[in-house]
Amino acid sequence: MLELRKIKKTYKTGDFVQNALKKVSLKFRKSEFVAILGPSGSGKTTLLNIVGGLDRYEEGDLIINGKSTKSFKDKDWDSYRNNCIGFIFQNYNLISHIDILSNVEMGMTLSGISLKKRRKIAVDVLKKVGLKDHIHKKPNQLSGGQMQRVAIARALANNPDIILADEPTGALDSKTSIQIMDLMKEISKDKLVIMVTHNPELANTYASRVIEMKDGEITKDSNPLDEKFVESDSYLIRKTAMNFLTALHLSLNNICTKKGRTILTAFASSIGIIGISLILSLSNGFEKQIDTFEVNTLSALPIIISKQSMALDEETLEQMHDEMNEVGDYPSTDYLIPKENEQDKYMHSNKITKDYIEYLENLSSQDVIGINYLYAANINFLQKVNGKVKKIETSNLNVGSFPHSLSHDGVNVIHERFDILSGREALDKYDVLIEVDSKNRFPKELLEMLGILSDENVSFDTILGKEITVVLNDDYYEKVGNYFIPKSDLEKMFQSKNKIVLKVVGIIRLKKEYPSMASSAGIYYTNEFMQEVLDKNESSKVVEAQKHAKYNVLSGELLDTQSKEGIEAKEALMAYLGGDKVPYVVQIHPKNFESKENITNYLDRYNEDKEESQKIVYIDQANLMSSLSGNIMDAITIVLVAFSSISLVVSSIMIGIIMYISVLERTKEIGILRSLGARKKDISRVFNAETFLIGLSSGLLGIFVAWILLFPVNSLLYKLTDLENVAVLNPIHVIILITISVILTLIGGWIPAKIASKKDPVIALRTE
Ligand code: ADP
Ligand code: MG
Repeated sequence: MLELRKIKKTYKTGDFVQNALKKVSLKFRKSEFVAILGPSGSGKTTLLNIVGGLDRYEEGDLIINGKSTKSFKDKDWDSYRNNCIGFIFQNYNLISHIDILSNVEMGMTLSGISLKKRRKIAVDVLKKVGLKDHIHKKPNQLSGGQMQRVAIARALANNPDIILADEPTGALDSKTSIQIMDLMKEISKDKLVIMVTHNPELANTYASRVIEMKDGEITKDSNPLDEKFVESDSYLIRKTAMNFLTALHLSLNNICTKKGRTILTAFASSIGIIGISLILSLSNGFEKQIDTFEVNTLSALPIIISKQSMALDEETLEQMHDEMNEVGDYPSTDYLIPKENEQDKYMHSNKITKDYIEYLENLSSQDVIGINYLYAANINFLQKVNGKVKKIETSNLNVGSFPHSLSHDGVNVIHERFDILSGREALDKYDVLIEVDSKNRFPKELLEMLGILSDENVSFDTILGKEITVVLNDDYYEKVGNYFIPKSDLEKMFQSKNKIVLKVVGIIRLKKEYPSMASSAGIYYTNEFMQEVLDKNESSKVVEAQKHAKYNVLSGELLDTQSKEGIEAKEALMAYLGGDKVPYVVQIHPKNFESKENITNYLDRYNEDKEESQKIVYIDQANLMSSLSGNIMDAITIVLVAFSSISLVVSSIMIGIIMYISVLERTKEIGILRSLGARKKDISRVFNAETFLIGLSSGLLGIFVAWILLFPVNSLLYKLTDLENVAVLNPIHVIILITISVILTLIGGWIPAKIASKKDPVIALRTE
């Protein structure tokens, strides 16, 4: 059933050629106990290795069950070793970091036999060799004889046809040797046992056939076989393949034998992960802070369109920046150079027209909370202070219209953005709201407008219900000759029958989550009231007169209506008197951050095919602020992550070195696994499994340490910035970082794993 035909094997070391086997021909029976005797160096081990498929012959042929092995590929030899051969070595060659049960199971594990089945078989064979009480011990807890029994059990476990034993008793005392020989003889009843020995006595006592070798040749054969074999193809071999779980199990056990080193390695390579995850969670946190700030608060800032606007587009900003940083030679000339007004260059005159207002009015109510129009028109306010009627000049005061009468989705802006401290929202067109700042402060001048002169705190109840009187132009001005002057009898004016009386109905304050910059203490009336005043004053005598006059009807100053300045002066005057119903500032209050985008897109669309001078430029305050902070954050994050990544690369190189050391340490194990039928692929799989474990644990460790560090980091940030829980680990980042850690360590360990798989099993087994 097994035949060697003129097998030749030589070893070349440098120029020296050693003929280990010189055309050896041998035939073996299906079951017999063959002992091979011979001096050291005569080629005995080489013969066994070739028969066992561990080593390759150069010439001749090895016939297994009538089948030539000339065309065998690596994987055929691997399966052959796994299925048909059981090796027993002089130095036992057990894997030291797994228990003996796992050692015995290893061959079956490689050929993919189920756990339950292989466990049963392993326990059975261990019983057979008399070790049933020791199955959970590690090899180094056993005596030499016991270890050799384990090796025999392992050789038997896969039920091979051939047992190859290389000086199995070489390291044992004579008493133990006899027990082992008994066992071998027992086995040889239904298997072919080929045993190399130095001991002719043992050979002659136990073996059924003794072969002697010298210098790579057979010199004597006590019981040769001459019958001719029938060629057959009955020979079937199961393929072997180690699954990744087995590889993981092996690696895990191996790692456990060097815990200290593994923990240090994992920790060292986790530093990069720690760094990156800290940076990411910080920038993540800050970005989130900025985001909530943007969404909640910045969107409270209105989009502003004013008649004179700074063109704050990126292009202009860049130009401004360039100009500010302009360097060059300082001139030594003796003249000066006239320069255009810096401001004029970047200012844009928005031509806000009725059409544009209409365009704005068509903005989706989904996006807009309210549109607020500010007019240049003067409103004639009167108030009784200390019993005397006074005119109130509001040009320097925060008095204006407020879109509080507009509501969206049934939720009034007031309720959405303000706390009503006292009273109610504005429901009537003559209702007035008082806004105080975040500390409930309110300008004295505005208090006076309400008729209160006080340095003391003023209770809300005092303010609620206060009235402000507004008189229209025709009651306010009287015509004197060609001019108009304010009437002097204020008491009478205060009683005029066309007067409008505004009434304070509520005191409001911007909610805490909005930036205080969006708040402004002031007195706010409704848009509808403003429209009424504009409508009535438009047809007043003073406006009518000014419309046709070529001079200022209030001061008598001549207006040159041919010049630009003259035209502008007249326009301003008309606006002041209320003869111009186009606002000079429009404030659009977006509902939220997304709405703001929609609104600016809508505003951009208006400009799409307009000439430069016809374009309407708006200022998006929220965007200006957030784009600045966002860009800076991104830049810082990228730089820091790049730095930390270097440590990741370093750690992956380190992993490579450590794995290489591990490969050197485990050379023997590689040889053992190969002798049991493991493929090259399986060997690299074992090492890849180990790097996988290290990479995974260093990733997890890194994340864990970073997570622990977040607590002190956050409490420090809280002390510094008053922001709570800024740094937060993003789960997606966690997964990505652990993956990166695993991938990098796998890359680092890939070459060592490749080296391991390329190791010659014969040489690997010889190493100590
Ligand atoms: P034995 O087992 O009978 O002592 P071996 O089969 O181990 O002898 O060796 C036979 C011969 O081949 C010896 O001379 C040995 O030095 C040589 N040899 C064996 N393996 C190698 C090798 N890997 N490289 C070089 N020479 C080798
Ligand atoms: Mg030998």
